[in-house]
Amino acid sequence: MADPFKLRDYQGELITQTRDALREVNSVLLQCPTGGGKTALAAFMAGSAAKRGNRITFGVHRRELIKQTAKTFDKVGIPYGIIANGFTGDRHQLVQIASIETLRRRLDWYPRPHLYIPDEAHHAGAATWAEVIDSYANKGPKGEPSAKIVGLSATPERLDGAGLGRWFQKMVLGPSPAWLIDQGFLSPYRLFAPSMPDLSGLKKNGADFARGALGERMAGASIVGDVVKTYRELAHGRKAMVFCVSIKHSLAVVEQFQRAGYRAAHIDGDSPNRDELIAAFESGKIEVLSSVDLVSEGFDLPAIEVAILLRPTHSLSLFLQQVGRVLRPVYAPGYDLETREGRIAAIAAGPKPYALILDHSANTIDREKGGRGHGLPDDERPWSLEGRERKKRGAGGEDEEAAVTTRQCPQCFRVHRPAPICEGCGFEFPSMGRTVKELEGELQEVERKTAQVERKREQAKAQTLEDLIAIGKARGMKNPHGWARHVHNARNQKTQQRYAR
Ligand SMILES: [Zn+2]
Repeated sequence: MADPFKLRDYQGELITQTRDALREVNSVLLQCPTGGGKTALAAFMAGSAAKRGNRITFGVHRRELIKQTAKTFDKVGIPYGIIANGFTGDRHQLVQIASIETLRRRLDWYPRPHLYIPDEAHHAGAATWAEVIDSYANKGPKGEPSAKIVGLSATPERLDGAGLGRWFQKMVLGPSPAWLIDQGFLSPYRLFAPSMPDLSGLKKNGADFARGALGERMAGASIVGDVVKTYRELAHGRKAMVFCVSIKHSLAVVEQFQRAGYRAAHIDGDSPNRDELIAAFESGKIEVLSSVDLVSEGFDLPAIEVAILLRPTHSLSLFLQQVGRVLRPVYAPGYDLETREGRIAAIAAGPKPYALILDHSANTIDREKGGRGHGLPDDERPWSLEGRERKKRGAGGEDEEAAVTTRQCPQCFRVHRPAPICEGCGFEFPSMGRTVKELEGELQEVERKTAQVERKREQAKAQTLEDLIAIGKARGMKNPHGWARHVHNARNQKTQQRYAR
């Protein structure tokens, strides 16, 4: 790995933009897609602020993220303390990695930071998060100055699409996933959506599906059978991560894969043998690792070659985190990774020339076709602190943005941007979007051609001059005798030519 503190050009620019924004306002949201190096940005900011003697608190919302952040800070040589139950803290360190839940309960125990960096800041609306942010954004009880706040998020909006303008005053936008793929920082991908789960009548819990019933529906034999069949057809033996609804659901999926002869295992945030499982997966001893979304945030494992989506969700954030897991590139050694050409060649020559996404949750399928409408992983998404604009609201309170973003091939189930031909198998889509007038024109043309063929057939059946005259009369010709003679002579000539050769 390259020098971890050497930022990529665009990352350096993002840091500069964030600093500039912090001169004007107190709280900035730094957007950066999964795989764009969010943790590297955080480490850089924390490191350089600490060098100037400032206190920094980095807030995360899960234990596994504490460990992962700690690993990154270790790598780049930033000393830190940890604020979380079950960890021995060191309150004298300038940099603190904190569980936001613990932090909220101990707000008065620790000196206020100069810079507070909440990770996954799209959770800002949750009461715990808001409490910490609000506390630091205001002056302290003894008049301590307010902290600067830099929220990090790949998907800066709440589950219902609402923006984060209440907590952040400015947003700095990172590169798009499409650009990162084009530059060779993320892997190219192919996406297939081979099944469409029936989720009719399922209850919702807030804005997303209620887990219990959803898990049972997705664990249904036909769906799971289809998952194993598709994996065999499109991804046989490639390292796959499955994203399930619940542990029970995940265990059912694992059992089906095992029955089909694959080496599969379940993993979740509480698995005691988590590190062993991951090592076995990386070495190929396990082909299919099935999980619940506990590992979808901040779980960095470039070895994943296939993402199997089995968790229907209305959360764009959750969807993008899951597909983001499989887009981490694997570079073959011996290439110059400082250049775009080098990176692209290194991906093409590596063990994962492209990532496979198998969507059995219809998360990518357009809404009017019954899917969740999240589109493709690298669609352009215009983030803003105001949130997504709603065009209209349906009876169920869901937004119904009617824009068609994807097209699905009926032959190979590949999902791609609207195009006349399937990128996967070359299937030609019947042309769409024609006007009624055009359609009528086409229909007339078809009728005209059919009639022509029919007439030729009728003519060919007519053996004698008399038969031809009868046809000419039936067609209402002015001179049926003349026409019949003309056809008859032409036939005779052809016959003579044939014999003359
Ligand atoms: Zn196709």
